[in-house]
Amino acid sequence: MASLSAFDKFARASEFTTLDSTTLFARAKKVLPGGVNSPVRSFKAVGGTPFFVQHASGSRLFTCEGRALIDYVGSWGPMILGHAHPEIISALSHALPHGTSYGVPNPYEVEIAEWITQRLPWIEKIRFTNSGTEAALAAIRLARGYTRRPRIIKFSGCYHGHVDSLLVKAGSGALTLSQPDSAGIPDPLASLTFCLPFNQPEALDQTFEKFGEEIAAVILEPYPANAGLIFPRSGFLEHLRKLCDQYGALLIFDEVMTGFRVSLGGIQALTSIKADLTLYGKIIGGGLPVGAIGGRADIMDHLAPEGPVYQAGTLSGNPLAMIAGLTQLRLLEDQRIYETLENLGSRLETGIREILKQHSLHYCFHRIGSMFTLFFTDKDVIDLETALTSNRQQYADCFHKLLAKGIYWPPSQFETAFISAAHSFEDIDRTLDALDSILQPS
Ligand code: PLP
Repeated sequence: MASLSAFDKFARASEFTTLDSTTLFARAKKVLPGGVNSPVRSFKAVGGTPFFVQHASGSRLFTCEGRALIDYVGSWGPMILGHAHPEIISALSHALPHGTSYGVPNPYEVEIAEWITQRLPWIEKIRFTNSGTEAALAAIRLARGYTRRPRIIKFSGCYHGHVDSLLVKAGSGALTLSQPDSAGIPDPLASLTFCLPFNQPEALDQTFEKFGEEIAAVILEPYPANAGLIFPRSGFLEHLRKLCDQYGALLIFDEVMTGFRVSLGGIQALTSIKADLTLYGKIIGGGLPVGAIGGRADIMDHLAPEGPVYQAGTLSGNPLAMIAGLTQLRLLEDQRIYETLENLGSRLETGIREILKQHSLHYCFHRIGSMFTLFFTDKDVIDLETALTSNRQQYADCFHKLLAKGIYWPPSQFETAFISAAHSFEDIDRTLDALDSILQPS
């Protein structure tokens, strides 16, 4: 246990482990842009100071002030089994003394790749990356390299990481060129991506009719979860598949959120529609940094060193990350976990709908398994435009009141919440009691 005592020594020696969240955030802002390493963590969408976490276990985060919070963010998705799952911690503890990175192949890369390809038939080959963003970046380059076409279609409200070609917003109409959604992205690059409204087949039809021969790929979250959780309308995914086949474009499903979450096989195990390429992340790394791109072997073989499309990573396939991911995936083979998640989600949904009814509130609630969003709008949310009708101030108020009661919901109306298998019915009931006291008609 030499490594643990070294950690104890480090923790004792570090004054930072004794500081409170306000002090830490003030110091962080001086040395990290915005005080964070990823923007949503700054609580900008809801206001206030983010809390810092000392440790996490099961369904709980423990703040630097020693408060226990029931966590519905789950590190933005990976922690489907809860925090510090004993088997993942044990696997990592056994692996640690063997070294943290080799820079040459290790057996676990092959083991996890075989595990996935044997269970998800639409993944014939897979390449591991360090994040979902990297996987999306590789997918776009691969699609362009494979089809030798320049243009991409994406959808408003879908997020695929901070990839230049995908960080674009819609122009004024379906056929107008998109604009950069961040400073630093050149207009000519943004103009190669069409950003269309989700769930509107007509916009797709028009774009394919005019530019079909130039479109390399359509990329989407099949169940978008980055404008809050949104469902595809019946027939939308089928229509997309048909158009891609007709025009020779690749269909890319981003299952970074839904993969291994809504079922072991993600969305593609629940529908008959299969993508040519699929992106994974979050759960696949068991809480360590892993992303992946997988799909048809004839396309994947275009990646270097087999093919001409370059993609690489110093830490890709890192042994610790592969072991954490493989351990989590193996645990998920127990179908009872998905049943537990469904039961917890269903109890939460029934309770929330009951509360809304009692208080005569007309909000829009969406859930699939352990993913959910409560939109503070009376509109039916079907795309980004309708999601944006939500009352963000009301959401922010609800967020802070829940936090005061020890419940941590996503710090933005447009982030999906997650339940883990470590949550209990008691956690759910405490959450419902808190919501009941908060969600009063104004
Ligand atoms: N794709 C989707 C659907 C995501 O939700 C995210 C991140 O939240 C990404 C891609 C990017 O993944 P990462 O943050 O690991 O780069």
